[in-house]
Amino acid sequence: SVAVLGSANMDLVTQQPRLPLPGETIAGSTFTTGPGGKGLNQAVAARRAGVEVTFIGAVGSDGFGSELRSFLDHEGVGTDTLRTIEGPTGIAIVSVVDGGENSIVIVAGANGADDISAADEAGIRSSSLLVAQLERPLTLIEKAFALAKDGGATTVLTPAPVDADAVRLLPFTDILVPNETEAIELSGEGDAQSAARALSRQVGIVVTTLGAKGAIVATGGEIVATVAAHPADAVDTTGAGDTFVGAMVAALARGDELSAALAAASAAGAIAVTRFGAAPAAPTREEIDAFLAE
Ligand code: ADP
Repeated sequence: SVAVLGSANMDLVTQQPRLPLPGETIAGSTFTTGPGGKGLNQAVAARRAGVEVTFIGAVGSDGFGSELRSFLDHEGVGTDTLRTIEGPTGIAIVSVVDGGENSIVIVAGANGADDISAADEAGIRSSSLLVAQLERPLTLIEKAFALAKDGGATTVLTPAPVDADAVRLLPFTDILVPNETEAIELSGEGDAQSAARALSRQVGIVVTTLGAKGAIVATGGEIVATVAAHPADAVDTTGAGDTFVGAMVAALARGDELSAALAAASAAGAIAVTRFGAAPAAPTREEIDAFLAE
């Protein structure tokens, strides 16, 4: 089984013609709320891809917290290690501008909790893989990765949102899965290929995702494989990377070779971008298998 350590947020999404100026009030056209956070997205993607998932996370004592808990329960993600902490749930305020880029404010809330409970430790020790992103405190991820390594589990890190201090986690990381921007920022190199080579001198396996251009795999300072992307009519690429990682770890947990796991991940990413949302766009194992059989 897979343990996912990460954030759970309620996404509050508004759409408007443009961003308001300081001091200005403008009318938006739509408002929606939905479950989000990279941790929750990866947990749901892995679960839908067909593996038992323990989500190590924290929500607040507000209504958003109970909504996120119900959503995870409904998805079949294990929530024995989902804590409720007095105070607010993490939120992301996403401002979508017609025909423009999204502007996002994240408030960590309960995601800022940095201690590991006995239940968390048990969840980590009973899983063959532990996957984390950077929307929880680095000290927490460090402790969790050390426990996972101690128990012989494989650790997987998505270094997003990218943070230079994340290099501290590399000695405990078995598989690093940055996107192009993250790989470049983390390595200080000028392009994705050089970044992948450089990072793979510090981590066993580096899988750098390149959006519609697929992914490259590097080990020991060399690029050893490429993963083809599938052509897709993309409508919303939010969370493509999280879906990719979720499907990859699900396949690895089942005992697939890395190459097969990456083929499944690429298929899952291609399906996800044809649908709106992040977690809600993640495909099931049946959908991934059918896509690969086409
Ligand atoms: P992130 O969402 O973290 O920025 P990427 O954009 O690199 O990550 O996407 C992750 C993976 O999802 C890619 O490696 C690819 O397999 C798949 N993917 C992303 N965008 C597309 C697309 N437009 N068409 C097909 N596959 C895509």
